[in-house]
Amino acid sequence: MDIHHTHIAPGQHELVKIPAGRLPTGNAVQVQVEVFRSEKPGPTVLVLAGVHGDEVNGVEILRQARSQGLFERLQSGSVIAVPILNVYGFINFTREVPDGKDINRSFPGNSRGSLASRLARIISKKILPVVDVGVDLHPGAGMTYNYPQIRYSRGHAPSLAYAEQFGAPFLLAKPAIRKSLRRIALDAGTPILVFEGGENLRYDATSIAKGLAGLQRFLAAQGMLSEAPEPEPVRHLAKSSWMRAPRAGMFQWYKPSGHQVQADEPLGIIHDPLGNHQVVLYAPRSGYIVGHNNATVISQGDALFHIGYE
Ligand SMILES: [Zn+2]
Repeated sequence: MDIHHTHIAPGQHELVKIPAGRLPTGNAVQVQVEVFRSEKPGPTVLVLAGVHGDEVNGVEILRQARSQGLFERLQSGSVIAVPILNVYGFINFTREVPDGKDINRSFPGNSRGSLASRLARIISKKILPVVDVGVDLHPGAGMTYNYPQIRYSRGHAPSLAYAEQFGAPFLLAKPAIRKSLRRIALDAGTPILVFEGGENLRYDATSIAKGLAGLQRFLAAQGMLSEAPEPEPVRHLAKSSWMRAPRAGMFQWYKPSGHQVQADEPLGIIHDPLGNHQVVLYAPRSGYIVGHNNATVISQGDALFHIGYE
C-alpha cells in the first residue's frame, strides 16, 4: 500500500505526514495519517475524525482506540486512522477552516481550490483510492447534541449491513449530502458510515463509549479483530425530520435525545425574555429524538429537535 510516497508493507505500522499548507506564521501544517497493516490480507478501513475542527468526540474515540492498542491487534487487513483532518479548525475551535468553508461540503476537492477543498482532496485523492470502507466520526454541529447514531446511505444495501455491524443505538437511513465525503465516496463505490455522537467542543462519555464499542464490533465483523463488545439493541429509523422554532426566544427542552416520544407530547417551550409569551412545542408524530438543540437563545426557524421515525 502506498500513501503519499510512503510504502507500507503488510505487518508494518507507519505515521505518514501529508503537507496541508502553512499557517500565516510560516509554520508548516501536516495532516497525520497513521497506517496499521496486519500480515494477513483483508479489507482496508478508513477511520476519520476532525473533518470539522470543533468536533472533539471523534478525535477522542480514535485516541482511545489507539491507546488501547486496538489497531496493533489486527488479525487481518489494514486500518488508516486520520484523527484530525481540519487542523486549522482544531486550533481555532471552529467547524470550518479560517475562510468559513466547510470541508464536508468541499469534496472531492481541488489542489488549486479553497483551503477546505485542498484538505478534502487529501482524503479523496491520496487515501480513498486504497480504502474499502470507512467510518467518519462526528458529533452534532453548533449547539446540537446527537444521541449516538450511524447515518448510512439510504437504499444502499452494503451500507445498511455495515451499519448493523457497527450497532449504534440508532441506525438512520439518510441521503448523502452533495459534495460530502459520504456522497463522493459512494459514487466511487466506497461506503462510508457516519457516526454521530455528542456535541462540539465537549467530551460526551456516552457517545465516546458507544463509538468505540461500535468501531470494535465493526472491525470484528470484517474479521480484523478477534473480540468486540456484545451487540446492543439497535433501532432502525427510515426517515427523520427537524422540528424548527416557530418564534425566537429563550428555549428549554423537556426531553433530550435518545428518548421515544408520542404524537402531541410536549417536548419543550420557548419564552420571551419578559415572560409575556410562551409557545409549547408538541411532537408532530411518534418517534425517537435523535438530536436536540442545547442553545438557550434561539431565532425563528432554528432546528430544535431532530426526530427519527421507524
Ligand atoms: Zn461534523
